Amino acid sequence: MKNKMEAVVKEKPEYGAVFKKVDIPEIGPEQILIKVESTSICGTDHHIYVWNNWAQNNIKPPHIMGHEVAGKVVKIGNRVKKVQEGDFVSSETHIPCGHCYQCQTSQPHICKNLKILGVHQNGVFAEYAVIEEVDVWKNDPNIPKDLTSIQEPLGNAIETILPGNVGGKDVLITGAGPIGLISIAVARVFGAANILVSEPNKYRRDLALKVGADHVVDPANEDLMRAVDDIFGSKGVDFTAEMSGNPKAIRDGIKAVTAGGIVSLLGLPDQEVSLDLTNDIIFKNIKLIGVTGRKMFSTWHIASNLLKSKRLDLSPIITHKFPLKDFEKGMKLMTENNCGKIILKP
Ligand code: NAD
Ligand code: ZN
Repeated sequence: MKNKMEAVVKEKPEYGAVFKKVDIPEIGPEQILIKVESTSICGTDHHIYVWNNWAQNNIKPPHIMGHEVAGKVVKIGNRVKKVQEGDFVSSETHIPCGHCYQCQTSQPHICKNLKILGVHQNGVFAEYAVIEEVDVWKNDPNIPKDLTSIQEPLGNAIETILPGNVGGKDVLITGAGPIGLISIAVARVFGAANILVSEPNKYRRDLALKVGADHVVDPANEDLMRAVDDIFGSKGVDFTAEMSGNPKAIRDGIKAVTAGGIVSLLGLPDQEVSLDLTNDIIFKNIKLIGVTGRKMFSTWHIASNLLKSKRLDLSPIITHKFPLKDFEKGMKLMTENNCGKIILKP
């Protein structure tokens, strides 16, 4: 095997990233080296690329970017038992410590000492990548290859929609970025009766309709609360999935829910958000659920099952594919929001 590879490196604490040759990494006894076949760009990668406030406070360059991945195992550490050379795998991206209270109580995805692949350690926008045995996921051969790296954000979507018990219910999804779009398709498969999507970007509203939304609204130019009233009457929706992180979308999403309803919050606001707890949550007896990551690995089983059974078709959500060296084209599209999921191939 050669000893150099090409990778997208966040080299300096400033806008951008570089495509350069680096050493192929060594692995430890509980690690796995994969030859990357497919990766996809997540909003987090874009935040690191544009060097937003969150990135400035959380990221210590240099490191290889990227965390959504699928690839073939080429080397295993001497204590690895879960996979063998030649297996086609993906990776959970939350790297748990294994010894904190959460890890010891079967909740490693919210480990107190959590590290994230491609955020706190070298990631997968490269020809080869190191993944931890605790994170490795053997891919089902019946899943189309391009969808394998998307199981991770699909897991976010499932984790957000599942608590909504959406079968036969009226659902509002605020934000139709890649994860919002996947969530529409998930809510559809889980049996939602009506899905209203609020999204300011036209390209994404059109995609939302393609993947299963019944109604779309542009919150920049239309009144979301009026749309909810027109479509669902004064009852409102049974469930809101908040996928934008926008403070107004969060407040409206909560207001739109019927008394006794449920709101899942996945979107990450970059500031504190004020809420009318008394009137909008307590008196309405609403369940507010914070969602992070996905369960290791019950949510992965659901994601994989939905894809391999072909019940869930995420192909319309993959809007662009580029060679890894053209990652900047993908980042530009992400800046404009004129994309669904973007695949990069080394
Ligand atoms: P994204 O930034 O691509 O999508 C957000 C979408 O919200 C965009 O399409 C944007 O146009 C839309 N939007 C902006 N203002 C809006 C408003 N007022 N009303 C409705 N929509 C509005 O992000 P993504 O990759 O799809 O992820 C969705 C959110 O989830 C992001 O906030 C992301 O940071 C967060 N996230 C959370 C976790 C977690 O574990 N909790 C994991 C991944 C991503
Ligand atoms: Zn832990």
